[in-house]
Amino acid sequence: MNKRNFAELKEKEFDLIVIGGGITGAWIALDASRRGLSTVLLDKDDFGAATSAKSSKLLHGGIRYLQQLQFSKVRESAIERSWYQSVAPHLCHFIPFLVPCYRDIRKSKLLLRIGMMLYRVLCYGENSRIKDFHKKIPKGWFISKKKLVSLVDLAESDSLTGGSVFYESHMENSERMTLAIIKSAVDSGAFAYNYTRVERFINDDNKIKGVSVADRIDGDEFKIRGRMIINTTGPWIDGLNRTLFNSDPHDITTGFSKGSHIVTRQIIKDYAVALPSQHKGQSIVDRGGRHVFVIPWRGHSLIGTTNEPLDNGLDNLSITNKEIENLIFEVNSSIPSAKLDRNDVLYSFSGIYPLQANTIKTDTYQGTGEYLIIDHESHSEIKGLITALGAKFTTSRLVAEKTVDLVTAKLDLAVSCKTKGIPLTSGTITDIESFKDRKCVEFNHLFPVDLTQSLIRRYGKDIDSIYSLGKSEPQLLRTVSERDNIIEAEIVYIVKNEAVCHLSDLIFRRTGLGTIGNPGAQCLSQCVKIMGDLLNWDDKTRHNELESVMNHLNTAVSPNN
Ligand SMILES: Cc1cc2nc3c(=O)[nH]c(=O)nc-3n(C[C@H](O)[C@H](O)[C@H](O)COP(=O)(O)OP(=O)(O)OC[C@H]3O[C@@H](n4cnc5c(N)ncnc54)[C@H](O)[C@@H]3O)c2cc1C
Repeated sequence: MNKRNFAELKEKEFDLIVIGGGITGAWIALDASRRGLSTVLLDKDDFGAATSAKSSKLLHGGIRYLQQLQFSKVRESAIERSWYQSVAPHLCHFIPFLVPCYRDIRKSKLLLRIGMMLYRVLCYGENSRIKDFHKKIPKGWFISKKKLVSLVDLAESDSLTGGSVFYESHMENSERMTLAIIKSAVDSGAFAYNYTRVERFINDDNKIKGVSVADRIDGDEFKIRGRMIINTTGPWIDGLNRTLFNSDPHDITTGFSKGSHIVTRQIIKDYAVALPSQHKGQSIVDRGGRHVFVIPWRGHSLIGTTNEPLDNGLDNLSITNKEIENLIFEVNSSIPSAKLDRNDVLYSFSGIYPLQANTIKTDTYQGTGEYLIIDHESHSEIKGLITALGAKFTTSRLVAEKTVDLVTAKLDLAVSCKTKGIPLTSGTITDIESFKDRKCVEFNHLFPVDLTQSLIRRYGKDIDSIYSLGKSEPQLLRTVSERDNIIEAEIVYIVKNEAVCHLSDLIFRRTGLGTIGNPGAQCLSQCVKIMGDLLNWDDKTRHNELESVMNHLNTAVSPNN
């Protein structure tokens, strides 16, 4: 990644400035830089720390769009899901999803069977895009009631008739997916800076010629010039555009709702399950009044989501006690033997759905899955600015492709998309299983097999750099976290190569050490020592960084509201 040196940014005029380093901005920066555009990506916080870190981490085939008869969206999601398998085979894996069926016709096997048949037709050809045999999408099947309850200890119910199993792709660390895409963009010549907030646009007679930015680490303020600017700041899109339009008639979103997850001890090991909600308006495979997902995740259960009106502003998100209690209630009602209680909640996180609906309904999923790309030249006669609102992690590559197509058309360049199926730098692996086998043998004298495997799941091909560090400095083989299989060499690699500015970047995003609960005082102090030594932090900074991480860990399980 680029070192934090803004000198070149101040000098240059870029072809493209991308504002927002979530998954949408990441893909835009990668596509643009691979097409040869000089590109800079800016985020006000850490890369991928906002909505893109707060999802259910599913790269889903879009089965729930079937219910709304949005067939093109099903196909679009299925195709995008398959590109992820090819470009980042180390960062996603398939998990079987169980959907219980009931006598009620809306949740019956018959309806689901028809839905599945249609789904298969719509997804036709998705496996042909995936070259690696191990990454192909397995077929689903139906199971009897007896089999279903042997897999998940569902509450006894006469109306339960059995279930269906289908596969979805899941990410262990979606933050690393976003980062891997940004790192690949940098490898293709892009500049990318976190903690660099765009304050306003530079408007010269209705032509946007750049942006004014604030460096949130050193307090510097400066301008960056660009021929085209993309606002892809997710929930902050309208706020930023209002610095230009001064009022809200141009707003793209009509409101926001909040969705939260909790992470608990593992209650189901090998299957994810879609539990019918105890709340009103239940329907099949749909969070539109809604299913609660229990997903096996890094030895724990990831449970979500809620759907609540957003009341605390975009920058002060946290779960409420009521949300935690609702999720526990949902799980215990469907799986009484789970016996979840507050002490089982190890972590939580909340994200924002930007809405295009006028009223915000509690407990009804209102995300439309509808992305928007707005060319402000035709929309409001402002040249040089495009707004891109992503709607799904899964389809963000496609949003980027369409947005960069628009940019190249405006710049009069004939270069086509370069992200379809072309691996990320860390994902240039033809056969993931034989790659793992090879590396386990190659690194055997230094790394235990399970360490090699977990490093590959986080770093793909970049495991070689961590191995080299461990080989040249054997003291870096010391364990930082046994629970997470993390050694000091990994922390050193991250601090030197992955643009971490705060301890929280390391704990919650690069390693995920904090996202399955407090990793322990010993681990945290080891991390702050390595990071502080490499970044020359004084004692006060070390203390503040640690305190901020501890505060976050505490409020994630014991919110104030
Ligand atoms: C609860 C929940 C569950 C979800 N589950 C799934 C799922 O399982 N699968 C799926 O496919 N999708 C899911 N989604 C949707 C998906 O998470 C989002 O569509 C996607 O992450 C949006 O990415 P983004 O890059 O557009 O926005 P964001 O990730 O929000 O990124 C916007 C970025 O802009 C930055 N920014 C804001 N203002 C400025 C500024 N002035 N200057 C510089 N930077 C700025 C922010 O810091 C932020 O990093 C879920 C969403 C929610 C809320």
